[in-house]
Amino acid sequence: MRYYKARASKGPWRWSGRYDAEHRWVLPGVDCPQCGTWADSGAYPTVDLSGTGALAKELEETCWPRSLAEYRRMAAGVAPFLAADQELTPGGEFGPLRGTASGDFGPVTAWPGWQLLVREDARAALFGLQLQGLHLVPAELQGSGGQMYEVEARPVGRAHHASVTPSSPSCDVCGHPGGFNLSTEWTLDAATLPSADVFRIWGTGVLVVSERFAAVVAKLGASDVEFREVPVR
Ligand SMILES: [Zn+2]
Repeated sequence: MRYYKARASKGPWRWSGRYDAEHRWVLPGVDCPQCGTWADSGAYPTVDLSGTGALAKELEETCWPRSLAEYRRMAAGVAPFLAADQELTPGGEFGPLRGTASGDFGPVTAWPGWQLLVREDARAALFGLQLQGLHLVPAELQGSGGQMYEVEARPVGRAHHASVTPSSPSCDVCGHPGGFNLSTEWTLDAATLPSADVFRIWGTGVLVVSERFAAVVAKLGASDVEFREVPVR
């Protein structure tokens, strides 16, 4: 199996579709007394927090970083709703995308680069293949010509350690795992390669799809998305 990094093509773009949307609930960033303020990227549109009462309301409105104690209180309320391969981190986003859209969308859209949306026909074709670890959630976009679905990419793939340069240390107070930079010609770690056909590289906003996924959406016509192969080692 080959794997490809998905990102918006440089353009000019064929499709006029644009959207402006946010996930319904957002865990705030954390202000750690030891390592400072930070938040990670990661969106889990399949997670429904509407049953968390007052916390759901807080998560709809909070955008500034919270103290460690406050962050932990909020994170503890979210934790029971997550699957084992969904990560609980400051800045985590949950629930469907909500916002506005205009224009016509291609089979797959990757703008902004950490979000992957597919059209209705692409959803049907992907489900027909019975891909592994594929989670598609209807995006609630006002003004869009057709229903779009966000692809949830869980952080289950890892970059090979030779492709990674540490940029900040881990923190034993708040649990920050430590930052790193990916080299330009980075590779996937074969030892941790997940069975999923869509996933995110742990610790980054990089989305990776399998060749099965890429082939299905390519059959539906051109998209403004570039799939660049990522070697496995
Ligand atoms: Zn810390």
